[in-house]
Amino acid sequence: MTHHAPLEWLALARGTLDRVALNRRDDAWLDDAWTASGTRVVVVQDGRALVTDGPEPALVLVPPDQAPNGDRWLLGEDESGTVYFGTSGPLPTIEGARPAGLRRVGALLGDRDSGLLTHAVALEHWHRTHRHCTRCGAATRVASAGHVRVCPEDGSQHFPRVDPAVIMLVTDEADRILLARGPQWPADRRSILAGFVEPGESLEQAVAREVREEVGLPVRDIRYLGSQPWPLPQSLMLGFTASADGDVPLRPDPEEISDAAWYTRDELRAAIDAGELVPPGPLSIAAQLIMRWYGRPLC
Ligand SMILES: [Zn+2]
Repeated sequence: MTHHAPLEWLALARGTLDRVALNRRDDAWLDDAWTASGTRVVVVQDGRALVTDGPEPALVLVPPDQAPNGDRWLLGEDESGTVYFGTSGPLPTIEGARPAGLRRVGALLGDRDSGLLTHAVALEHWHRTHRHCTRCGAATRVASAGHVRVCPEDGSQHFPRVDPAVIMLVTDEADRILLARGPQWPADRRSILAGFVEPGESLEQAVAREVREEVGLPVRDIRYLGSQPWPLPQSLMLGFTASADGDVPLRPDPEEISDAAWYTRDELRAAIDAGELVPPGPLSIAAQLIMRWYGRPLC
């Protein structure tokens, strides 16, 4: 195994449904789907949905007649023809279930439910925070089964916002990796470098710029490995590897990085075992990039 191979398992990139995007503007199909007996709805409130208790949680899906009234978002259809919608509203109280967000259950849910929750949470946040037209300020209305908002005054269409962010595992010639801590993080937290893509910039340019800005290091051999949605609240994480010269002194930007250092596999293992370093959790693409380099699970 090499850390240049594509990433195989990403917690939030496991959705199994056909999004049936061509049906989003078919009102008759949508009405039929909403009234079909097998249709299920995931209800989201402030980024959380009901999940069952226990070590293998599952989303609590309700029939349409038990869902709160409001805008419906078509999430997709499974192989058996069951259609899934999302909506926002108060979460019911159900014995054996409790509200949870992606951070807590995104890696624990099954593939279908992880995909459903990721999609629904992204839409819920977007609708909750983008209620007005960016051109004229009028209140917009939902269209395309929850995937567009339209301004009634000027007809402009507004699409769900996704902010691309690059995250990169930087190695040196000794195959050490660069880990850093953000100024607001707990003292023992370390991860790889990341940052938002800027307007007019390619992904590879963003990788090079962020590493140079954050630790003063030029990188080369930038390779894309995979991506996962990160609707916390509205990002798409794009994972890369890059190479750098380990002899170049690191110059962390104090605004973004409180410290940064190179680690061999043995040094990383020892720091984790000593309780001095907490690596990223399994939900993140950072954890998968580090594990790919390390060769086996870290925890
Ligand atoms: Zn407008």
